[in-house]
Amino acid sequence: MQTLTDSFGRTIDYLRISLTDKCNLRCRYCMPPQGINHIPHQEILSFEEIVLLVRVLAGLGLKKIRLTGGEPLVRRDIVNLIKLLKDIPGIEEICLTTNGLLFSDMASDLKAAGLSRVNISLDTLNDDTFFEITESRGVEKVMQSIQTALALDFPVKINCVPTEYNAGELTEIALLAKDNPIDIRFIELMPIGCANGMKGLKSDVILSELESRFGKASHLTAPLHAPESLFHFANFAGNIGFISPLSHAFCSDCNRIRLTASGLLKFCLCYDDSLDVKKILRSGESGTKLEDILKTEIQKAIKEKPEKHIFNQQGLKSHMMTEIGG
Ligand code: SAM
Ligand code: SF4
Repeated sequence: MQTLTDSFGRTIDYLRISLTDKCNLRCRYCMPPQGINHIPHQEILSFEEIVLLVRVLAGLGLKKIRLTGGEPLVRRDIVNLIKLLKDIPGIEEICLTTNGLLFSDMASDLKAAGLSRVNISLDTLNDDTFFEITESRGVEKVMQSIQTALALDFPVKINCVPTEYNAGELTEIALLAKDNPIDIRFIELMPIGCANGMKGLKSDVILSELESRFGKASHLTAPLHAPESLFHFANFAGNIGFISPLSHAFCSDCNRIRLTASGLLKFCLCYDDSLDVKKILRSGESGTKLEDILKTEIQKAIKEKPEKHIFNQQGLKSHMMTEIGG
């Protein structure tokens, strides 16, 4: 069995795929209010191209896939893509990160297709604040998606980005993990794209606030490769996690790479460097020759995976989160 190992000895077995740069929300830390210039349809990787690439990566030890975006559930026929990916030998888990607006209506089909787990983003429980953050109304729909996911026995995590908009309700959001077996993960705002200049809340401050309300938390050992610091409060069904790329780098343990909707394979969220796999996929080669070229180029490019991110330095304005999928 071949593996994909970088120059720092890290084995890569996790691919995050951004299926589209389109989204039905306009979260102010992610998308400008006027939206973005979308990638033309023909420049977006087709399902056939994604499946071929994943087959090659699975031959190199890929085990886990996360579908993200933009909003992955606005990509037509995603259920079928999940079925195709699930059938690839070696792929053990297919996960989804969604804003939860469309999930509840699609959940049973996604489950039947082979979706393994779901992360749902929820920054607020208040519909007016939801509107302030996203320019849409949708708390009810997102809460319905969380309940549907639990009813269908999906392992569920909630992603929450603490900012000045939701600072006053983080303990209420954390309380969702008291009665439900879900992990709430507070994600430190990353200075990417239109989040540049916005102020996020530091994890340490949030933890102290939660401890003053719920008592001292026990610090758990997070599963291998998990980017979060994990805590448990007495009498809670789920855990509270903190993803703090700025204050606690988790790069030494990184096992992930990213595929953009336009077909660039990126080795670190923080840098512009990438391998243009679309160019290779559309080079005119086919069959095992194409697969061999992809394998060789990916094995060569992985050696350039940076040791760590440099989010604490200025000047990272070129990325859009919708393109690289968080
Ligand atoms: N649309 C889906 C969603 O919102 O869950 C998937 C894509 S979104 C880019 C993935 C995750 O990235 C979301 O949880 C979102 O809150 C988070 N995110 C977006 N921009 C961010 C930023 N600048 N800093 C930290 N997290 C961010
Ligand atoms: Fe859309 Fe997700 Fe970005 Fe919000 S965070 S604008 S839901 S892609």
